[in-house]
Amino acid sequence: MFVYIRSFEDAGEKVFVIRNFIEVRIPLKHFKKLERKYSLEYIISMGEPRKVISHVTKRNLEVITKESGIPLLGNPYFGVIDRGTNLLQVRGVTGCNFCCAFCSVDEGKCSKTRMTDYIVEPNYLAECVKEIAKFKGKGVEVHIDGQGEPLLYPYMEELLKEIRKIDEVEVVSIQTNGSLLNEEKIDALEKYVDRINMSVSAMDKKIASFLAGVKYPLEKILKNARMVADSKMDLLIAPVWVPGYNDREIEKIIEFALEIGAGKKWPPLGIQKYIPYKHGRKVKTKPMSFPEFYSKLRELEKKYSVKLVLSPEDFGIEKRERYPSPISRGEKLRGRIVLPGRLRNEKIVVAKNRTVTVRTNKKLGDYVNFEVVRTHDGIYLGEEV
Ligand code: SF4
Repeated sequence: MFVYIRSFEDAGEKVFVIRNFIEVRIPLKHFKKLERKYSLEYIISMGEPRKVISHVTKRNLEVITKESGIPLLGNPYFGVIDRGTNLLQVRGVTGCNFCCAFCSVDEGKCSKTRMTDYIVEPNYLAECVKEIAKFKGKGVEVHIDGQGEPLLYPYMEELLKEIRKIDEVEVVSIQTNGSLLNEEKIDALEKYVDRINMSVSAMDKKIASFLAGVKYPLEKILKNARMVADSKMDLLIAPVWVPGYNDREIEKIIEFALEIGAGKKWPPLGIQKYIPYKHGRKVKTKPMSFPEFYSKLRELEKKYSVKLVLSPEDFGIEKRERYPSPISRGEKLRGRIVLPGRLRNEKIVVAKNRTVTVRTNKKLGDYVNFEVVRTHDGIYLGEEV
């Protein structure tokens, strides 16, 4: 899985950065010993002791391969999520290069709650998508998103290639903040992808930088949006409306989306209401109520003659039978801890061929008894008993 890209020395460690995302760090004294006996490929993949971290967030990075036997169903961090429709959310990676003030999952380097990142081997992920797509039948949309920026996934082309071989998959869409795109990547993506959903929440650099929590590359992102709109792919611009911060920006974004020709096949804009989430970052503002939000969108719809109040049907999303769940709420189970969780004290436990997120202080490899307290959308939470 590892393709060696570049290396350097830092803080007494030999550092290898693979595809600008996976950082393998081996103490120099150990590396020197290993170097005498083994090839670089071997050292990068197997050399011990070593740390594997995300080059972007600097958090511990867990690599999930088929050999690991870790199921790709059951948690919101990696793998596939089936919410009972013809759309499958596919998550290959966590972590983000932005630090948005409103981030619902407290992502980015500035995160105070996220302790671990995950990356899934592309063929393994595609196999899981295939199995569920076959169950769903024709007309499946694969939506690549995640807790973070999906385009950080360093094996995107490999993944897309495999996904496009699945007969049942009709539409492939990707969520992105747009900052990692460039002409070359857009050319590569348009071979596989039908729509890019790009989050742009302000046209003013200062406001955009405040909202994104980083020095916002506005010109680059707008250029990327134009290039996507001019490509074979469709573009949907998805701002988050944060009252008191970007109210005046929303109209500018609508004008921009219409001017560059977003929405060739699907709606050009997917304006989202800012919602403060329990484990997300919160902005000091009074969130709009849904009736207020929709009434504002309806006014803008009239002004710009564009559909802004959207429903799943606008994207061809329909209800479909859920992939069968072997776990029920209230069930008492015992499983092995296979990964650290994303949040402190959380662990990823495997039981009945699913991952369950359980709050426990037990260690990796330990077994834990738990009660299943949540099963909604095939995402399982357990409480240790
Ligand atoms: S909102 Fe999206 S782009 Fe912003 S920090 Fe969160 S995951 Fe990254």
